[in-house]
Amino acid sequence: MRLHGDMVDGSSKRMGEVARRPPLANPYAGRTILVVDDEPANIRHVREGLAAHGYLFREATDGAEALRSIREARPDLIVMDVEMPRLGGVEVCRIIKANAGDGGFGFIPIILVTGRQVAGKVEGLELGADDYLVKPFDMMELGARVKSMLRLKKLQDELVEKNRELDRANKELAQKREELLALTRTDGLTNLHNRRYFEERLTEEFVRASRYRTPLSLVMLDIDHFKHINDTYGHPFGDEVLRAVARTVRARLREVDFVARYGGEEIVALLPATGPNEARGACERVREAIAALQFEHQAPDGTMQPVRCTASLGVASIPNSELLSSENLMRAADTCLYAAKAAGRNCVRQHEEGCSE
Ligand code: GH3
Ligand code: MG
Ligand code: MG
Ligand code: MG
Repeated sequence: MRLHGDMVDGSSKRMGEVARRPPLANPYAGRTILVVDDEPANIRHVREGLAAHGYLFREATDGAEALRSIREARPDLIVMDVEMPRLGGVEVCRIIKANAGDGGFGFIPIILVTGRQVAGKVEGLELGADDYLVKPFDMMELGARVKSMLRLKKLQDELVEKNRELDRANKELAQKREELLALTRTDGLTNLHNRRYFEERLTEEFVRASRYRTPLSLVMLDIDHFKHINDTYGHPFGDEVLRAVARTVRARLREVDFVARYGGEEIVALLPATGPNEARGACERVREAIAALQFEHQAPDGTMQPVRCTASLGVASIPNSELLSSENLMRAADTCLYAAKAAGRNCVRQHEEGCSE
């Protein structure tokens, strides 16, 4: 009950205030309106008519000047006379609309003003204007149209900004997707590709090589007596050795060669466009580089012990009439790797030299 009484009191008081209250603040006050007319008196007339709304004004008395002003100041709205000598309002309007795209003027609403009674509103809008007034016009009407055009401009600008944000977000998303994909293909310890991605690529490269009849070599590498390294110096030290071997293999092969960690201390490499001779050479280079690595292990008494490691490699290449599938190629390289182990380790065995079972 009391609440009701208050409301009545409050509202009657407010009603009494209405007449004294200043007009509602114009949300578009401070926006810049370019007024273009070859008659300065007409410009004055428009400015006076809109004076109470708090806009900023720029003036131009011909089309060329109007374009200069637009380039310099990017007004929020243009009120422009159609009938002007040389460059008329309709032409200026076309130029502005043709340059609305990215890097151009952007969207600037245009109200065309004409003395021609014949031109209907539809005709005016077809000329490219956003709104159209026939002289003499009512200032209240101009004020209302200006406000509605400024609202349109605000919405359009917000839309453009939202689209930009969306573009940015999409680009970020695409980049994140790439990063995620790379992560799912990478081995965390060695930073080489992982086995899953290797298997994908092996299938692809095998198909490509078979189809275009280009050679392809597959290398399998396994660190020798790695268990001993782990057992003697500890697992973290073993990890260091594995990382160094991975870096060495990657560095000694070509950029187009695909290197992955296949399992524990096994590394595989796919060498596209590489036949048996070249592959053999690459394997020897890798083997020598691994054998040349020098590690140091700190013993519990603080002394530094030098540690070395070696690796064994098996390699097989296509085209080869015995190796008609990627599985066969893989098995052949693996067999050669075990042949290298059996031969005393720290060496390369090659399918073409007859290391098959
Ligand atoms: P071989 O010369 O016959 O290859 O002997 P090996 O000792 O290298 O072979 P084996 O397969 O017996 O041992 C491989 C070892 O590699 C055993 C395993 O604990 C170790 N290993 C596998 N993955 C990792 C790893 O990520 N880090 C470390 N530090 N050791 C690993
Ligand atoms: Mg005129
Ligand atoms: Mg091993
Ligand atoms: Mg092994």
